[in-house]
Amino acid sequence: MVRPVTTPDPALIDLHVHTTESDGSLSPRACVERAAELGLAAIAIVDHDTVAGNAEAVAAGEALGVEVVPGVEVSTEFDGAAVHILGYFVEEAGPELLAVLHGVRQWRGERNPQMLERLRELGCPIELHEVAAQAGGDVIGRPHMAAVMVQKGFVRSTRHAFDQYLADGAAADARPEKVDAGTAIEALVACGAVPILAHPGSMRLPSEDQLEEMVRALAARGLRGIEAIYSAHRDEQTADYMRLAANVGLLCTGGSDYHGASKPDIDMGCGFGNMVVPVSVLDALKEERRRLRA
Ligand code: AMP
Ligand code: FE
Ligand code: FE
Ligand code: ZN
Repeated sequence: MVRPVTTPDPALIDLHVHTTESDGSLSPRACVERAAELGLAAIAIVDHDTVAGNAEAVAAGEALGVEVVPGVEVSTEFDGAAVHILGYFVEEAGPELLAVLHGVRQWRGERNPQMLERLRELGCPIELHEVAAQAGGDVIGRPHMAAVMVQKGFVRSTRHAFDQYLADGAAADARPEKVDAGTAIEALVACGAVPILAHPGSMRLPSEDQLEEMVRALAARGLRGIEAIYSAHRDEQTADYMRLAANVGLLCTGGSDYHGASKPDIDMGCGFGNMVVPVSVLDALKEERRRLRA
């Protein structure tokens, strides 16, 4: 039998990882252990609206020989659309970013009880303290509501919970005003962090023209890149977003949106199985950080 000639794996990274501080199922340290097990050269921790897991992950990275980029994924809106802004190299959250994160916390503080009220009206009574206990970490969000709904037998699965009740526009969705994307971008830049538009394929904008318009508007506020490589992006989407980034003069980044058991089909480093983020993406991001701080 002829063995195929194998070349050594190029250094791979994953710039989109969630921990128990938001809606992931692994602790910050356990995420780094998973990265080490997979042989990844680097990961970025980008919990939703909190930097609480970063210090533990960075320390674990130093011990285990995995480069850990401290980051955040901020829940914002632009023109009524939900927009997630990633921030990379959040070494110290400055006053502007702390104010933005406080604003997002207030939004969750309003939205979560509104959603629970709707769920109650829809015949799924779950309590905030149960959802908070499920969350455990720093941020309470919809995946924690979904988990409690499954445990109490109101739905068959997380997917069922989102499709019927929790997804954007579904029956229990509530939309108090959110932090504006441009404000979050400026706050990240103010503390030396590199702001990137997360998963453009998940925004369900009516048209690609609208995406370009939004990207140009956000670039004017300081956006530096687009997460073109992403678990759920089809190859042609990735190619489209790379072209858009080049046209606007932005970087491309990539990550899986790893959540551990909360999204069991997505693994760190490879997403649904075929995502590849080369270490050169991180080199370009570092170069951007240097320019941004110069
Ligand atoms: P939140 O930040 O509380 O609004 O919750 C958003 C999070 O819910 C996302 O980051 C995902 O982890 C998860 N999520 C959003 N939509 C879905 C969906 N359709 N199915 C499963 N999880 C979802
Ligand atoms: Fe999430
Ligand atoms: Fe996101
Ligand atoms: Zn994410």
